[in-house]
Amino acid sequence: SEKGIFYALDLGGTNFRVLRVELGGQRSDLDPDVEQQPIPEQLMTGRSEDLFDFIASSLYQFVEKNDSVQSPITKLLGFTFSFPVKQTSVSSGVLIKWTKGFAIRDMVEKEVAGALQQALTRKGLNMRVSVLVNDTVGTLALGHYHDADTVAAVIIGTGTNACYWERTDAIIKCQGLLTTSGGMVVNMEWGNFWSSHLPRTSYDIELDAESPNPNDQGFEKMISGMYLGDIVRRVILRMSEESDVFGPVSSRLYLPFTLRTPLMAAMHEDDSPELTQVARILKDVLDIPDIPLKARKLVVKICDVVTRRAARLAAAGIVGILKKIGRDGSGGITGGRSRSDIKMRRTAVAVEGSLYTQYTMFREYLHEALNEILGEDIARHVVVIVTEDGSGTGAALLAASHSSE
Ligand code: ADP
Ligand code: MG
Repeated sequence: SEKGIFYALDLGGTNFRVLRVELGGQRSDLDPDVEQQPIPEQLMTGRSEDLFDFIASSLYQFVEKNDSVQSPITKLLGFTFSFPVKQTSVSSGVLIKWTKGFAIRDMVEKEVAGALQQALTRKGLNMRVSVLVNDTVGTLALGHYHDADTVAAVIIGTGTNACYWERTDAIIKCQGLLTTSGGMVVNMEWGNFWSSHLPRTSYDIELDAESPNPNDQGFEKMISGMYLGDIVRRVILRMSEESDVFGPVSSRLYLPFTLRTPLMAAMHEDDSPELTQVARILKDVLDIPDIPLKARKLVVKICDVVTRRAARLAAAGIVGILKKIGRDGSGGITGGRSRSDIKMRRTAVAVEGSLYTQYTMFREYLHEALNEILGEDIARHVVVIVTEDGSGTGAALLAASHSSE
């Protein structure tokens, strides 16, 4: 029932977004204004003040376009900050560590909403950071706004993570803490999931060792958009060194992240009979010209294997959540009933991230694995819903729901 104009800022990967949502007092189709821009690479590893000043300037220009920046009424801002955070209140939290290529040392263990608030004040913007949320939580909020059966949200973009709604009494960490709903959203930080049952190849091990955060985010490094292209590069490099299928070894193959995931996807999805896209990308990006069709087919196969593994791991993670909350048809962790006599409730999972939305083969493999693990009968009740700009729009909705007006 909230009314008014609410802003959000979504930071946590390749691009950052500023958003403006106007709420009219009743549930409706939200039509947020969104602007997106890439984060300059030097800001990802520099000083925190520079990053936050840059963001504050972009936000200032965005507000200026639509509203009066000078207005005496304080505007409310939802801040989506998608890195591991120790949440200290609805509007504050301390950065535990950076992921996804960010490495701003002076920010670690500092309060993030305060750092943004200070930059807004330096800029003279009358705006208050009223909620601090993870992108998964923003996505869950928007997913639930549109569909009340939404129980979990998954991000598959530059990085990967998920959150879900849990009964408070099932959360060991917060025993004694009460919430009015009896529930709480758990940000899983599943990008850092690890298990000895998860086989790692030498490519995974080398990618991890050469990353700015070794021994961290193992699941993410096998699944998300920041890394898939680089796994493929490493496989091609090894093949090139150990055989002559790709001709003389191209020196470009030694450069980390030369093959970005969108280009990997373009090669994977090349449906021309001669694989002309594959040939073009190999030549232009990896400096591997004139290889026979057989070798180009091999490249498509590598992309396929790497993407299929990623999509199936993500699907397994989703089923893990459903299992935990008793929505996998098994009656939950305490239930002993068989799948067939459980009445399965409709269950929605909100998903966001360009790897899922832009990469058709990834999406198809993920759905295929969900069907396979859950079985058709149960999978019928599980719907995956894409929430466009959910992580930001959801934060604006949460800012609204925490406003006093
Ligand atoms: P963010 O994670 O920064 O919030 P996105 O959800 O848009 O942003 O995800 C960006 C990531 O998605 C990029 O790092 C890239 O790896 C991947 N990506 C973008 N476009 C494509 C595409 N067409 N095919 C495959 N992957 C893509
Ligand atoms: Mg995002």
